Amino acid sequence: MILERSKEIRAAEAHLERFGVAGKAFLAPGRVNLIGEHTDYTGGFVMPAAIDFGTVAVVSGRADGKAVFVSVNFESTAEYDLESLKQRTRPAPRGDWSDYCAGAAWALAQEGIALPGFSMTVLGDVPWGAGLSSSASVEVVTALALLSHAGVAMRPEKMAVVCRRAENEYVGAKSGIMDQFVVSCGAAGKALMLDCRSLEYDLLPMPEDVCMVICNSMVKHAVAGGEYGNRSDEVEAGQAALRKCKPGIELLRDATLADLEVCESSMSRESFQRCRHIITENARVMEARTALLSGDMAGFGELMRQAHLSFRDDFAASCPEVDLLVEIAGGLPGCIGARITGGGFGGCTVNLVKAAQAEAFGQSLKAAYLAKTGISAEVYLCKASDGAHPLD
Ligand code: ADP
Ligand code: MG
Repeated sequence: MILERSKEIRAAEAHLERFGVAGKAFLAPGRVNLIGEHTDYTGGFVMPAAIDFGTVAVVSGRADGKAVFVSVNFESTAEYDLESLKQRTRPAPRGDWSDYCAGAAWALAQEGIALPGFSMTVLGDVPWGAGLSSSASVEVVTALALLSHAGVAMRPEKMAVVCRRAENEYVGAKSGIMDQFVVSCGAAGKALMLDCRSLEYDLLPMPEDVCMVICNSMVKHAVAGGEYGNRSDEVEAGQAALRKCKPGIELLRDATLADLEVCESSMSRESFQRCRHIITENARVMEARTALLSGDMAGFGELMRQAHLSFRDDFAASCPEVDLLVEIAGGLPGCIGARITGGGFGGCTVNLVKAAQAEAFGQSLKAAYLAKTGISAEVYLCKASDGAHPLD
């Protein structure tokens, strides 16, 4: 059997072949959120981990003042005039993969970083659109490579904030700070608990014999309008009602369940339930931290179970297929905990599974899901990995 060459080697070879010079290589991971869903944009707590799927960027200089990106995955080249990326008003997004790279360059330029011309080759194995944040992986690896190219040091915490700007303001995708933060600051064998208001964080030990098994339900239901309504509008409305009703509350994160109950009559039933999910979820993240620190994995698994029920019933953002995946997982050998992860209405589940049983767990989960739904799920076995770093 011919061993598949690593993505590092393939990216380096592609760069040399395309540009005729060797470059410097960098890696940024994808991520999975273990607990703390829909808590980030109201200043709450999240607990993701970086995973061992990632994106490599290889960079070298060029003299013509251009920014040239090559995507090996998309077999495509995108050229930008560097001057246009230095303007306050960003160039119009092209609506393709290169927006994530150009966005990172633009966001760095907005920080006053002088970027000399460069060629960059990007190659990744984070499945895109699966909820593992391939977009943040591309943004952060681009930023890290360009910072090195410009000879500028930047703390990973700051790099995360800059890359979030690329996603929000350049690409135009609404998202919290979680993805870019854990992709920048994650660590091998650790979950990262982040306070999304202060950006203070803790790296917490994940037991070595536990595997993070991610299962993609392969369904994606429409979020905006229709039967599902708009969750973030409902949360905003509830937060606004709490602010009015209880001075001192700035973000939902400041509110207790007792506060919410006092203000119940000043918001819709939907807002009340969405806010109840977020308030109880913030508490669960805090408890999950204690569980990890004391090695109580059964306790952690129970918090994941409760988090799923809250997401399903109070946040009303699960779906039958994902509920089924969680139910099947709970009955399989080696399963410590299972819940939906990501925005909701489909997407992935995250399962903590005893490492020795992870392979069999994944196969059984796929088989049972296929038998009941006719859908072939994708399963990824991951371990908690380092945040973005140079490769040589
Ligand atoms: P995700 O949940 O994976 O972050 P997004 O829709 O936010 O999904 O981002 C996916 C997009 O990121 C892809 O459509 C592509 O434009 C870009 N992307 C992801 N991986 C790569 C890659 N290896 N090379 C170039 N672009 C990538
Ligand atoms: Mg994304």
